[in-house]
Amino acid sequence: MASPSPGDKHSSVKRVAVVGAGVSGLAAAYKLKSHGFDVTVLEAEGRAGGKLRSVSCNGLVWDEGANTMTESEAEVQTLLDNLGLREKQQFPISQNKRYVARNGSPVLLPTNPIELIKSNFLSTKSKFQILLEPYLWKKKRVSDDHTRETVGGFFQRHFGKEVVDYLIDPFVAGTSAGDPESLSMPHSFPELWNIEKRYGSVIAGAIQSKLSSRKEKGRETKGSVEKGKRQRGSFSFQGGMQTLTDTLCKQLGKHELKLNSKVLSLSYSHDGNTTSENWSVSCAANNDKHLQSSSVDAIILTAPLCSIKEMKISRRGTIFPLDFLPEVTYMPLSVIITSFKKENVKRPLEGFGVLVPSKEQENGLKTLGTLFSSMMFPDRAPSDQYLYTTFVGGSRNKELAKASKDELKEIVSSDIRQLLGAEGEPTFVNHYHWSKAFPLYGHNYDSVIEAIEQMEKNLPGLFYAGNHRGGLSVGKAIASGCKAAELAISYLESSSDGKMLQQGSSS
Ligand SMILES: Cc1cc2nc3c(=O)[nH]c(=O)nc-3n(C[C@H](O)[C@H](O)[C@H](O)COP(=O)(O)OP(=O)(O)OC[C@H]3O[C@@H](n4cnc5c(N)ncnc54)[C@H](O)[C@@H]3O)c2cc1C
Repeated sequence: MASPSPGDKHSSVKRVAVVGAGVSGLAAAYKLKSHGFDVTVLEAEGRAGGKLRSVSCNGLVWDEGANTMTESEAEVQTLLDNLGLREKQQFPISQNKRYVARNGSPVLLPTNPIELIKSNFLSTKSKFQILLEPYLWKKKRVSDDHTRETVGGFFQRHFGKEVVDYLIDPFVAGTSAGDPESLSMPHSFPELWNIEKRYGSVIAGAIQSKLSSRKEKGRETKGSVEKGKRQRGSFSFQGGMQTLTDTLCKQLGKHELKLNSKVLSLSYSHDGNTTSENWSVSCAANNDKHLQSSSVDAIILTAPLCSIKEMKISRRGTIFPLDFLPEVTYMPLSVIITSFKKENVKRPLEGFGVLVPSKEQENGLKTLGTLFSSMMFPDRAPSDQYLYTTFVGGSRNKELAKASKDELKEIVSSDIRQLLGAEGEPTFVNHYHWSKAFPLYGHNYDSVIEAIEQMEKNLPGLFYAGNHRGGLSVGKAIASGCKAAELAISYLESSSDGKMLQQGSSS
């Protein structure tokens, strides 16, 4: 990797501050460093990784944040190759076996639409509705505000209520802690939203898109077909998801990553005379009352918007008020890790995990879902134990997310008892509470995206990335960080030919 020489720091090598050492910030910093920029990552907490948080204790390895990721985004594939992480990738055993609770019991989810139609997972009426969707799907009424349609409304128009209740509801609860009625369709499923715009029917559109992407693939070389194969499926890493952010941190080096450095204020002071060090970043280092400031040429913010709103930003000596940034709603979530002696689990299931639709609360189930962590990754628990990762809370049950460890242990044990036949008490329990696990891509999310764009437009050299923009998954957060790094790079490169001067003075 190219690294700048310390001597030319204030002359030719441009400096960038990245705020937040979650996966998006670290991916952005890695890209900037690879391009020869002088980068500093400022992280409020005493650890890097953000929502990637792996723990190992008593022979168990678990994740308290993201458990797996995919590599649908090209940026992820490149990053894993460049970091040499391919040998550490761990693919779950039987990852296609995923269950959804129905009438209080786990039912194997069909793996593709044909299997779904052949199975008894849905009623005959719903299966007909799926088969006839190209003819029967209902258009949204013109009077309704099309951009604000909910995920539930969209899927109900196309496939009916049962599909929403037993497929969409558990899926969105498991991937965003949200619910179909609160989530915005264009922001949560942009690809399907665009398919409807283009083709009308989701089924017909999906088939057409698949056929055209097959044609594209046919033109690709053998090497890229190999690469395509890699795109399928979820994976983690030896030691858990934090292996990814730990590896990124190692690449950055200690002096480029500053922990316990909460950024409190940013100041833009471009006066039209100089093209460098227009930004000053101040942070409280190690809870010290005295602020530490540094000058940089560009900034990438990856902290949640609620943290950005708390910052003091000034532009050429005057306060730049952030009251135009809307309040984002965040989903609270508790993650409960349990292990049980194998002999005490009477109906263990091989596979990825079981999701619980909200309707199943009527059958006494209170959790959002449980991952079969040691079934997926057998090296994560001693051979006589099963390790489970269970999620509680989300928009379905915000209060329960805040419950005590003892209360959550009872709730989780009761669900695992019912779903998997566990008997007695778990041999190990761990609890982690995220008060703001996921930003909710709600009905008004357009205004959030517009405000981010406005902030970037009015503050030259400042870029925003992370899971508040373009998707919640680890892969999307990485892609967002890489895109922000690219924008910062072209901004900084343009500064040398005078374009930055124009941009700064015109705003
Ligand atoms: C419980 C849980 C399970 C999940 N499961 C999955 C999964 O299985 N698969 C998947 O793809 N995704 C999953 N996700 C989502 C995914 O993990 C996140 O969306 C992604 O990791 C977010 O990365 P980020 O860099 O955008 O933000 P974050 O990881 O939130 O990083 C932001 C960083 O900014 C720091 N910060 C905040 N304020 C300041 C400040 N003022 N100054 C300096 N630093 C600051 C924070 O401390 C934090 O480290 C899960 C998330 C959670 C919570």
